[in-house]
Amino acid sequence: MKTIFDINFKDKKALIRVDFNVPLDANFKVTDATRIEAAKPTIDKIIEDGGSVILMSHLGRPKGVDSQFSLQHIVSTVSEILGLPVQFASNCIGDVAQNAASNLKSGEILLLENLRFYNEEEAGDVDFASKLAKLGDVYVNDAFGTAHRSHASTTIIAQFFPQNKCFGALLAKEIESLNKVLKNSQKPVTAVLGGSKVSSKITVIENILDKVDHMIIGGGMTFTFVKALGGSIGNSICEDDKQELALEILRLAKQKNVQIHIPVDVVAANAFANDAQTQIVDVKNIPDGWQGLDAGPKSLENFRKVILESKTILWNGPLGVFEMENFANGTIQLGNFIAEATQNGAFSLVGGGDSVAAVKQFGFEDKMSYVSTGGGAMLEMLEGKILPGIAAILD
Ligand code: AMP
Repeated sequence: MKTIFDINFKDKKALIRVDFNVPLDANFKVTDATRIEAAKPTIDKIIEDGGSVILMSHLGRPKGVDSQFSLQHIVSTVSEILGLPVQFASNCIGDVAQNAASNLKSGEILLLENLRFYNEEEAGDVDFASKLAKLGDVYVNDAFGTAHRSHASTTIIAQFFPQNKCFGALLAKEIESLNKVLKNSQKPVTAVLGGSKVSSKITVIENILDKVDHMIIGGGMTFTFVKALGGSIGNSICEDDKQELALEILRLAKQKNVQIHIPVDVVAANAFANDAQTQIVDVKNIPDGWQGLDAGPKSLENFRKVILESKTILWNGPLGVFEMENFANGTIQLGNFIAEATQNGAFSLVGGGDSVAAVKQFGFEDKMSYVSTGGGAMLEMLEGKILPGIAAILD
């Protein structure tokens, strides 16, 4: 796996695909700069080598050129975070981009305008990719968030740099962390899969069954399993057409010697609302009119034991409706258990949109071994897919 650390960038122009798709407020100020900060190590290394940096990214989902989605809005934030001036090219291809790139000197940084101002970007257009490719000497992919897309700047462009392409520090770290769970894991390995639906996690569950010793299934998915096993789940969320699949997962797990842990009790509510009445009930006996919205105390005690015995932990998806304060306890406790296991030496990886949001919201970010930056990309890797953006560099 070739990374930026295998290349000396002195006097080279590095064309880096970053993921600067950051949220902006009504005044076009960056409200969360995590993704920009995440790209800093790669940029720093290239500048320290004596190279120059050309940054390309998308922002939002513009339909054609639209100043609302201009990357000009983020120039000052990027400059602040990098501690260096950042030049801006008002187009990502053509004379404007070409001249700006040609004039770039060692130690200088150029940010190109939004790649998605051109439909050709998402279409994976080869001609568009070749125009981008002319701007740099080395292609670096550091955008994990879009690595599962076959876009011009994430995948197609790599063919123009057969000898001069590599992974950035962030993307390399993402791959390495996932491999620590999926390939070179220390046993016992535990996957915690929560969230709302079985249907969106099914491929992950099937792929992961070959890699783990324990699987904790929580969140809304719980009830499809419990109903399939004959329990009464009241008004809890359930995918009736996935019951057979749930039973099949349980059969497969047994065959593969994977221990499945499902909540035994839940915090049930008489409405889907934070101020609803609540009671702790047996997961198999939820009264009519009530719905399970969080894991109960006995379940959490069981999960705690499993987590603390694990050497490798993967966490995707909340254990309850964590957005509502009264149903956040399970997710917070789970975060505490994983933090404790991590402190005791386990490797923990958190990924997939909502769990990352929960980890940040409850302050666990620095207590996990690694928090992935790519929701969809991470899920696809967990599904066992080879991401096109990664394959293009390995080719
Ligand atoms: P996902 O996007 O599949 O990871 O699902 C995340 C969502 O699942 C969050 O918004 C949670 O509020 C929701 N969720 C977790 N547990 C439950 C539950 N018991 N009932 C309904 N929704 C849930």
